[in-house]
Amino acid sequence: MSANRTHRSITGSTRRPELMLVLGSSLTVVSIIAIVTFLLIREHANAMQAATRGATNIVQLIDADVLRNVELYDLSLQGLIAAAQRDDLQQVSAQIRHLVLFDRASTARFKGDVLLLDKHGEVIADSSLIQPKPGNFSDRDYFQAHVTHRDTGMFISRPFKSRCDCADSDQWRISFSRRISSPTGEFLGVAAASMRLAYFDELFSSLNIGTDSTLNVLDKDGILLAQKPMLTDDSIGKSFGSRPNVIRILHEGSGSFVSVSSMDHQDRLYTFSRVGNLPLTVSVALSMDELFASWKRTAYVISGATGVLCIGLMWLTLQLCRELRLRRHAEQELAEQAAIDALTGVANRRTLDQALNREWSRAQRSGKPLSVLMIDADHFKSFNDRHGHQGGDDALRVLARVISENIRRPSDLAARYGGEEFSVVLAETDTFGALQIAENIRAAVEQLPPFEGDESPITVSIGLSTSTGQPGESLENLMYAADKALYQAKHRGRNRVVSAQE
Ligand code: GH3
Ligand code: MG
Ligand code: MG
Repeated sequence: MSANRTHRSITGSTRRPELMLVLGSSLTVVSIIAIVTFLLIREHANAMQAATRGATNIVQLIDADVLRNVELYDLSLQGLIAAAQRDDLQQVSAQIRHLVLFDRASTARFKGDVLLLDKHGEVIADSSLIQPKPGNFSDRDYFQAHVTHRDTGMFISRPFKSRCDCADSDQWRISFSRRISSPTGEFLGVAAASMRLAYFDELFSSLNIGTDSTLNVLDKDGILLAQKPMLTDDSIGKSFGSRPNVIRILHEGSGSFVSVSSMDHQDRLYTFSRVGNLPLTVSVALSMDELFASWKRTAYVISGATGVLCIGLMWLTLQLCRELRLRRHAEQELAEQAAIDALTGVANRRTLDQALNREWSRAQRSGKPLSVLMIDADHFKSFNDRHGHQGGDDALRVLARVISENIRRPSDLAARYGGEEFSVVLAETDTFGALQIAENIRAAVEQLPPFEGDESPITVSIGLSTSTGQPGESLENLMYAADKALYQAKHRGRNRVVSAQE
């Protein structure tokens, strides 16, 4: 067995721990990343859920307040209509008539005038004046709606500004109105109450929705009635009904979705709801950046820490692998040093003894022949004297190379026995085969060019012995026989091969 084969078997079996280490660490890193990703996604979903719940609560709070307020307006209007239809009112004084007509008109803070209009739109009663100021409102959208439709119910107008010269005439209002019909259904006039849109501003002022989010109230056509904070000064009364998000909000009635705002192109969470059966929709548009600011910070910190942890783990793994590799190389080197003769590079005496014992046992079991060659350099003492120890060492290296080149089977082993003696173990080789190999070695050494200053080449004598598995044979006998054959070869004149089995 050659040193190379020993080397290969060591590397093959010891590379696995490093592979397992890298595999285990990679698996750990992947697991850590998977767990962190899962937790971050879950946190994101929780933040989204909490935001939607909060926005829904705000929307419902506004809904309830607006609904209650509008109901109050409606009650006022219904009271006015019921009083206006009493026949006995014509006989009483103007003061009493005013009292009766506006008896049920509540006095809310943002309430404007409550008016009674005849079928031509002329003012016939005004909650703020006993003698109403003359005026005609037949051009208002609510008047036209009641003229043309019998069953409008309570109508909410588009935003408008008052025509009077009063102090708050620049403020936006909407009006709530009802049709007055005769018992036969004939149009008799309209009862209308106006409300300043500042009502919404006050309602919104108590709600905290963050700095980059908006609250909106839209009518059924997408006309903006109120907004907090006001994005532009002139948005009230403008129609946003063509914007995709508004179309979706008006179409779905209530719910929530995430979409890009057409105003500032930011992602927003829209939560919205219709106010009862009224043609009004309240929507909250929360900034996603604001909603997930805290989550983002947490995500950056956790991702960073996880990244550092994983990189650290992989770095440690690679360091450990490097250490393992270095240790394996050191061990291999030691094993080689323990097995190989330092001067000639062939197996040393220790390896030779191990191989001999192993091959002897194998030969005993299989019954196959085992041959041993003992090779000794001729007149090496005088060679050394001529060329010095350095030259002698060089010659030993050349001899070792020639011997190694002449054995081919993987199970054959060339070793330095000691001094200028070499041994070759030839497993499963009979005397005939061993003789051939010995002769090849002898001839190859003889063919070497003479060393500088020498006339004739260096030569070797070889003694060989073969065990055939006969009872009573021993390894010691085999070696002794080979040694004796070598002695014979020396005795017969050197540079020759002698077999113990001759
Ligand atoms: P023979 O033909 O009978 O074998 O003669 P020889 O001179 O080779 O026999 P001997 O055993 O008396 O001498 C062996 C010599 O080999 C002795 C020593 O000078 C030399 N020798 C042994 N080991 C080494 C070595 O490692 N290096 C060198 N340079 N010479 C060695
Ligand atoms: Mg010798
Ligand atoms: Mg010798």
